[in-house]
Amino acid sequence: MSNWKKQLVDGYYAFRDGEFIKQKALYEELGTDGQAPAVMLIGCADSRVDPTDIFNAYPGEMFVARNVANIVPPCEDDEAYHGTSAALEYAVTVLKVKVIVVMGHESCGGVGGCLAGMGDAPIENFVGSWVSLLNPARDKVVATVSDPDKRQHALELEGVRQSLQNLMTFPFVKAAIEAGDLSLQGAYFSITKAELHMADKNGEFHPV
Ligand SMILES: [Zn+2]
Repeated sequence: MSNWKKQLVDGYYAFRDGEFIKQKALYEELGTDGQAPAVMLIGCADSRVDPTDIFNAYPGEMFVARNVANIVPPCEDDEAYHGTSAALEYAVTVLKVKVIVVMGHESCGGVGGCLAGMGDAPIENFVGSWVSLLNPARDKVVATVSDPDKRQHALELEGVRQSLQNLMTFPFVKAAIEAGDLSLQGAYFSITKAELHMADKNGEFHPV
């Protein structure tokens, strides 16, 4: 068996004989009755920032959508394929989650790519096109943070703020918030320190 396949299968056996056994009743209930998570989390696809690990979440607790650089695009009414927007719509209109958390993280490759100009013309690939969504946040950071070494961290935070603003462009999100049924929350995770930061109402991030 190839190394990656052995790693996957061994991991599955460890899960099946360990965590699954411990939570067998919960899995059976969730499999039969469906999910009702209170939290939607939009995070980065980065392998170092698994939201269910970071929040110690049980199966069924957290509806997670991960993409490059944890970006929420603006609501676009076209015929393109919007994976993150579809997950968002399902979470809000069907699952009726209580909060949407957008979580950025330390040393984000997508954020670094945006800073390096991947999202500027000529755009050559899907990642470049995707991270160009961060260009408005990038321009703001470049204009306000003079030290280039501090721009990565600043854009990791500013990208979360921009995604929170973009969430409000979705009519179903805006309606749920106005009805008092939904909240938005910005978060940031430092990998090296396992430190979680939460944004306050002014968009400033503080360790919890
Ligand atoms: Zn990332």
